[in-house]
Amino acid sequence: MEFATFADRAAAIEAEPADLAIIEHVQDLLADTDGDAESGEPRTIEIVARFVQGRVFPAWDSTTLDIGPSACYEAISRAAGRNVDTNDVEDRLADVGEIGEVAASYEFGGQQGLDAFGAGNGSGALTVREVYDDLVALAAAEGEGSEDRKIDALFGLFNRCSSDEARYLARLVLSEMRIGVGEGTVRDAIAAAFDIPQEHVERALQVSNDYGEVARVARDEGLDGLDAMALEVGRPVQAMLAQTGTVTDALEAWEEAAVEWKYDGARIQLHYDPDGLEEGDGTTRVFSRNMEDVTAALPEVVEFAEKTLAVPVILDGEVVAVDDAGDPLPFQEVLKRFRRKHDVAKAREDVAVRPVCFDCLHADGVDLLEEPLTTRHERLEVVLTGDGRPEDVAGLSLLWLTDDPDEIESIDAEALESGHEGIMLKNPESAYSPGRRGKNWRKRKPDVETLDCVVTGAEWGEGRRATFLGTFELSVRNETTGELETVGKVATGITDEQLAELTELLEPHIATEEGQEVEIEPAVVFEVGYEEIQSSPTYSSGYALRFPRFQAVRDDKAIEGADTLERVERLRS
Ligand code: AMP
Repeated sequence: MEFATFADRAAAIEAEPADLAIIEHVQDLLADTDGDAESGEPRTIEIVARFVQGRVFPAWDSTTLDIGPSACYEAISRAAGRNVDTNDVEDRLADVGEIGEVAASYEFGGQQGLDAFGAGNGSGALTVREVYDDLVALAAAEGEGSEDRKIDALFGLFNRCSSDEARYLARLVLSEMRIGVGEGTVRDAIAAAFDIPQEHVERALQVSNDYGEVARVARDEGLDGLDAMALEVGRPVQAMLAQTGTVTDALEAWEEAAVEWKYDGARIQLHYDPDGLEEGDGTTRVFSRNMEDVTAALPEVVEFAEKTLAVPVILDGEVVAVDDAGDPLPFQEVLKRFRRKHDVAKAREDVAVRPVCFDCLHADGVDLLEEPLTTRHERLEVVLTGDGRPEDVAGLSLLWLTDDPDEIESIDAEALESGHEGIMLKNPESAYSPGRRGKNWRKRKPDVETLDCVVTGAEWGEGRRATFLGTFELSVRNETTGELETVGKVATGITDEQLAELTELLEPHIATEEGQEVEIEPAVVFEVGYEEIQSSPTYSSGYALRFPRFQAVRDDKAIEGADTLERVERLRS
């Protein structure tokens, strides 16, 4: 296919406001590569399916052209002739605001050349494949002088472009295609062009992450070919994402919830094959949530994989920064390591990281995307603990199945106490849906409102916390009776340091003690977050705060300023 044809079709798509008509245009474009007599890899349909989305490489491939706007402007200005320089390109860009329009405003050497052949139909016509091949070569240029070689290569392409072609070449090179073709458009167009049910196209896209390959297989091998497409260890898939949600909603929606700790790190997808991966030499590849290859930055993850794993797998998880004791450090610390390209060994000395895996997408030749979460987690345990291998579950995220909100509350408390972010609630029956932000994974909603409660009781801690007060009883004011009414107990969100401070603050106010329990004279006000308020016979107010978390001591508030039962009732409705 000539690049001019592609540019024509792209222009027609861009001019089309209606989504359905755009799908038809893309469908025709894909179908028109059908008669593609060219041999070679990839096939033209693959290139076109990517170009139309403004991509040169498949989504799983982290190769980039690595050419910045100014290099592109230089290539354009050189191809546009003697009287044009990059300032001129930039001036026009400032005027029109879009590089395609700027490129199209010039006449290029190629166009004059083609005129001599007659209307651009001569042997000089640029093809889609030539553009692709040149861009691939350009992406591969490395080392000294590579920037100049890239500009030369790009100049060569612009030099062969008509103004209309240049519009789309410039946008393609700068990843600014913007003709209104999203991933859904191409998916629907593939389904329509080759008469294949959309869900099958969707599944093939999820496992392969390559619109080009899916378009080719749909055309050449039909439904059976698409259904046979599978995950490939070494090639990243999109991560499944989470929505915010509450425990109550999750337990209403599902019979039971799978509860996991939410780690405060960076998402990783770990690919491992003991016999070596096809892409690259090693056994292990680590990808970010955006499918960038971050292997080199995280040697601990590679070491973990090589030590722990024995069969080919694709695991989903989080990499967490840890201190010398192995306790989690804040998210900012992981960022110092995550995409690091230089001085990794030095950075590793400063901040260590450790992987925690919570899902298994593929194990030993078997794709597990469609299996329920519980089955995937069982496989995860097996691949991490091995079969008769020494037990090493350091990298395993635990999963609890429960329908009991109190148990969830204590898992949440434990997660926070261990320095993690909170909990994730997952539908135990759910499949792994790459790229989806659905309701099957929910991160517990952050607290929206807070209440200022009077501390009316507490419990002495246990073990290393025996000398600290913890688990504080909270009360609000009943303005009608003048009494304080209990609404719950808070034990979470408090660091050891804060416990010591709170003990010091509250100890002088202890009225009575019985075993571990103490009654406290009303004197101190806590600001407390919570997930929701439920009616409850447990507390004298008739209400209970669900998932209360300590936020701060309200030094500025006397008891009279604490919140009232009336406010609790209002917040509940
Ligand atoms: P957020 O980034 O706030 O949308 O929360 C979702 C992110 O939490 C995921 O992308 C993961 O990086 C992270 N995460 C931490 N622990 C888990 C877990 N147990 N399951 C799923 N995601 C987790």
